[in-house]
Amino acid sequence: MRVLIMSDMEGVSGIVVWEQVSGGDPMYEECRRLYTEEINACVRGAKSAGATEIVVVDCHGAGGGWQFNSLIPELLDADCEWVAHHPWSRYTEMLEGGCDACLLVGMHASAGTPDGVMCHTISTTRWRDLFFNDDCVGEVGINAAVCGAYGVPVLLVTGDEAVCRESRELLGDGLTTVAVKKGLSQYSARQMPPVKARALIEEGAKRALANLSSVKPYVPAKPTTITIHVDQVDAALSFKGRAGVEIVEPRTVVSRGKDWQTAWDQIWGWKA
Ligand SMILES: [Zn+2]
Repeated sequence: MRVLIMSDMEGVSGIVVWEQVSGGDPMYEECRRLYTEEINACVRGAKSAGATEIVVVDCHGAGGGWQFNSLIPELLDADCEWVAHHPWSRYTEMLEGGCDACLLVGMHASAGTPDGVMCHTISTTRWRDLFFNDDCVGEVGINAAVCGAYGVPVLLVTGDEAVCRESRELLGDGLTTVAVKKGLSQYSARQMPPVKARALIEEGAKRALANLSSVKPYVPAKPTTITIHVDQVDAALSFKGRAGVEIVEPRTVVSRGKDWQTAWDQIWGWKA
C-alpha cells in the first residue's frame, strides 16, 4: 500500500500563533518538533495499517530557507521519505505512480472561519473565499482536488475542530478526522497535550486506511469554474490578462477550464 501524507503546521497541537510557525522566530524550533512528531504518529499508524511506501510532503510555508522545509530530519521515522521545499500543491510524483490514499495532518480551516485557529486560504495570497464550482473550499479542498485529479482519495484530516468539520462537509462522513484542539478565536484554543494528540493521530491513520473506499476521490464537476474573492481591487488586477481567467467584478476573479486541473493551472503558478 502506497500512502501520501500532506502536512501543514497550523493544525498541530500546541500551535496557536504565527510566531510558532514562522522560520527564524525563537518559538519556531519547539514547534518544528511538535510538527515532526505528529507526522511520525501518522507514519506509525499508516505502517500498522499495512503501508509499504510512505511519502510525506511538507506543505507549510515558514518563509526563507524554511519554506516547505520545517520537518526536523533527524527525528523523522525511518519508514518514510519526505519532500521538502517543493512548490505548494505541485508534488504529484507519488500520485502519478499510483497511490492508494492521502492523509492530511496539521491542517487549518479556510479563511473566514470564526473558530478556525490561524484560519486562512494560502498564506501568500489575499484570497478571502475560494470556490470550486459551488463548493467553498480551503486548503483541504485544494489538496483533495490535487489528489482527486489522480483518482486518489483523502482518508484522514487532522487539525482543529473547525477544519475537521469543514473537511467532513466537503468529503463526506466516511472521512476519518482527528481534532487535536478546539479554536476559541483565531489565535486561541483549548488543546490536548501533544502526547495525546499523537496517540489519536496514530490510531486515526490506522483506522482511516482500513477501508480505502470510505471516501470518494474529490473531483469537482467538469467543466470546472474556480471563483476567487480577493480582499482588494489590486489583488484582482494581478490576474489581468491570464488565459481562461476573467475579472467579473472588481474583487472577483473566475477561471474556467475543461477540468479542475486546467482551471487551477490558470490561476496558480509554481511558487516555492
Ligand atoms: Zn501552514
